[in-house]
Amino acid sequence: MQHLDTQLLHADAAFATDSAVAPPITYSATFMAKDAEEFAEMASQPQHSRYYTRYGNPLHERVAHILAQLEGAESGLCFASGMGGIAASILSHVKAGDHVVAQANHYMATSKLISELLPQFGVESTIVDQTDVSAFARAVRPNTRLIHLETPANPTMALTDIAAVCALAKSIDQGITVSCDNTFACPVNQQPIALGADIVMHSATKWLGGHHDLTAGVVVSSKERCAQIWNTAITLGATLSPMDAWLLLRGMRTLGVRVRQQNATAMQIAQYLEQHPGIEKVFYPGLTSHPQHALAKQQMRGFGGVMAVWVKGGYTQTANFVASLKLFANAVSLGGVESLAVHAAAMWAGTMNDEQMRQANVQLNAVRLSIGLEAAEDLCADLDQALVVTC
Ligand SMILES: *Cc1c(COP(=O)(O)O)cnc(C)c1O
Repeated sequence: MQHLDTQLLHADAAFATDSAVAPPITYSATFMAKDAEEFAEMASQPQHSRYYTRYGNPLHERVAHILAQLEGAESGLCFASGMGGIAASILSHVKAGDHVVAQANHYMATSKLISELLPQFGVESTIVDQTDVSAFARAVRPNTRLIHLETPANPTMALTDIAAVCALAKSIDQGITVSCDNTFACPVNQQPIALGADIVMHSATKWLGGHHDLTAGVVVSSKERCAQIWNTAITLGATLSPMDAWLLLRGMRTLGVRVRQQNATAMQIAQYLEQHPGIEKVFYPGLTSHPQHALAKQQMRGFGGVMAVWVKGGYTQTANFVASLKLFANAVSLGGVESLAVHAAAMWAGTMNDEQMRQANVQLNAVRLSIGLEAAEDLCADLDQALVVTC
């Protein structure tokens, strides 16, 4: 088997249709058939890449094939956003009367999908503390059909023991599917399928695209499950545009070098901030102080480029810190070449005062940092000058 860096550049070679080194952007909504026989074949084959772009596109095929190789899956699908893929995957695996087990900490829209949208269609869920494998075991009911995981997860980079939860699901003989959102780690650092997961999903907006310039999603699984998800996806219609598929493919070519560098810089910054007098606490799976560091070493090959920090002080000091950063952009998202900082409580500040936020358990001094490709020394200097402002 080829190495990840080689796969990123060559795994889609078989799909090349001409001598162009960079793939052409197939900007066509529809594709011609030679005759009735070919038309019938195009219309009936799942994920056909040359029938109608909502059903598939040559660039989707290339992106999905590379990601399936990286994740060790049989097949893959592209979507217009991470949520498009997550929604299609979950909705295609449950029906009225089923039960889902999910985590207390998920990407916010995923939590909404599970706790607010699924009940409208008669699907119930139980939300558990993801750091406790026995909580998953206790939550399983006879009608549980899906366990959805996400690791590492906001806001404290809490981990889920993927292998343990997958073993649990398999030990209960009622056909429970385990899906795992691998966005934060990305396949360079973590491969949930090898740990037993059935479906892996990504917001390709983050590490896979890597340049803060596109919105996309990718899901990988077995051929059979992908066909099932695709069947729901073409009804929901979250189709990735050919241009964004092309940008995603281009971004993915450099995933290996980017992520290894961002892992290394993030580690350096986490260590720097951990001893900084202006910082109360750092949450990064690579630090020995992370409560699940042993699990991180077991299931991750690298610890990623995202960390959470608690600034010494309250809402105002933290807001000042983020506003004083010059290299970190004050913006949501993660995984791109530019470093980003988000003051989590600021998302709620428009609708709640400090006291209401405290009651809702919003950590007033929490900041999420996504480490880009700037030099570690420059990022440390920027963090330091912004912390001097707050101290
Ligand atoms: C961003 C994100 C999503 C949603 O992806 P979009 O591309 O914004 O739809 C889902 N899960 C995780 C972990 C994310 O970070």
